[in-house]
Amino acid sequence: MPDAAGPSRSGPDRHAHPHAETRAHRPVRGFRIGKKTHSRSLQLQAIDGLSECASCGYFQRLPELEPGQVADCRRCHGQLGRRRTNPPISTPLAFCIASAVLYLVAIFQPMMTLDLFGRIHAVTLLTGPIELWREGWTLVAMLVLAATVLVPPIVIGLMLAVLMGAARERLPGWVPKLMRRYEYLRPWSMVEVYMLGIFVAYTKLIDLAHVTLGPAVYALAALMLTMAATDSTLDVDQIWRKRRVSRFVRLPDGRRVVVSTVDSTQHALPPAGRLVSCTSCGLVCASEFDLPRDTVLGHCPRCQAAVRLRKPQSLSRCVAMLACAIVLYIPANLYPVMTIVKLSRGGGHTILAGVRELYEAHMLPLALLVFFASITVPVLKIGGLSIMCWCTWRGSAARLVDRARLFRLIVFIGRWSMIDVFMISILVALVRFGGLAQITAEPGMFAFAAVVVVTIFAADSFDPRTMWDVAGMNGVMTPRDVRRITDKTNLETESVAA
Ligand SMILES: [Zn+2]
Ligand SMILES: [Zn+2]
Repeated sequence: MPDAAGPSRSGPDRHAHPHAETRAHRPVRGFRIGKKTHSRSLQLQAIDGLSECASCGYFQRLPELEPGQVADCRRCHGQLGRRRTNPPISTPLAFCIASAVLYLVAIFQPMMTLDLFGRIHAVTLLTGPIELWREGWTLVAMLVLAATVLVPPIVIGLMLAVLMGAARERLPGWVPKLMRRYEYLRPWSMVEVYMLGIFVAYTKLIDLAHVTLGPAVYALAALMLTMAATDSTLDVDQIWRKRRVSRFVRLPDGRRVVVSTVDSTQHALPPAGRLVSCTSCGLVCASEFDLPRDTVLGHCPRCQAAVRLRKPQSLSRCVAMLACAIVLYIPANLYPVMTIVKLSRGGGHTILAGVRELYEAHMLPLALLVFFASITVPVLKIGGLSIMCWCTWRGSAARLVDRARLFRLIVFIGRWSMIDVFMISILVALVRFGGLAQITAEPGMFAFAAVVVVTIFAADSFDPRTMWDVAGMNGVMTPRDVRRITDKTNLETESVAA
């Protein structure tokens, strides 16, 4: 791996204007790289072969990867890039078409049938949200409807359009827009979490009545696999390569900036404070002057996404949503999430009682799964994000690599807490036999669903690169800081592993 373009490697910038340093401390806005002068126009360099780690904000040269290779960040070990071994368009397209067909089966076929003393009740994917809505839980009904019925076909359609566009010689201008929508919506398509919800609901029901699984369950299981396969065979970098970098971009105030493309291996790299990467397509651009942190700098010359150095008000927004999640977490655990009435007997069940019930029914693996998803994950998310906010506020440089790992884990596991909400939506839809057996949703479920959604937004609003910024790792580094970090990571500095 060639040298990284970290701040310690600032070196002489032979492309910068001779008066760059004196102009640097003037207030700048947008890609305003210097005052407009009569002699020269505004300039921006798109740097080929340079990549910013989304997890820690470290700029490093990324060599051309061979199929099957994965490149990790040399500082925080987050993934920088990956080349797939499969054909970049046709394989994900095949999985995507399969997903579209499976979704149609899942939505129109019955999902489960419950037979209780000859009284039969069948449900589809839509019945859960409808029953929740009838009981007055409109917001939760909308959440379940979005995550299982509305968002999956939208993301499948978006990906189909993106892949059709990417099959052309040059990537059309509408593809990047759809790609951004896809990346934004993909975490909210929760078919795989819903499948686990079905599994837990099924095991809770088999001792109550005779349950038959319908074609929709098998279609959903297959859909879960094909959607995961689409993502794991999709090579986003290969798609972006088909899009050429524009020769001009416009600033927020309408002025034109000339963009030139340079090779990272052929030129000395500017200091990190002048580099900015597009969070959508990953293109790294260098301005001639230090860039402001919070404002929109302009549009990416390759994908037209709004470019800024860091997410706006990352810390305060995350803290506000964490405070909200902590308040909601109390009723989510104290109040029952559902009421189960069997032969006119029964009562409210809290989340913990649901876990205990599974344990007492000798279903230990399932009890552990629900305990992990409903108790451990929310606590880990709230606790982990609180630690990150606290350390960022204090400007701490302690355990940065561990914190970066924890943040990636929190983002990955966040959605799995929805298992309980999905399970309740299925039970409420299925078990409607009046005095014989009836399951209804309770306020605890609303609070719990709100905790899950708010913590997903909290993690989304936090910019993990700020942890490294405040520790002085992305600006001007002191030699002591450099040594401390590199000592920790030196063991795995060979960043590109086969
Ligand atoms: Zn990193
Ligand atoms: Zn871009």
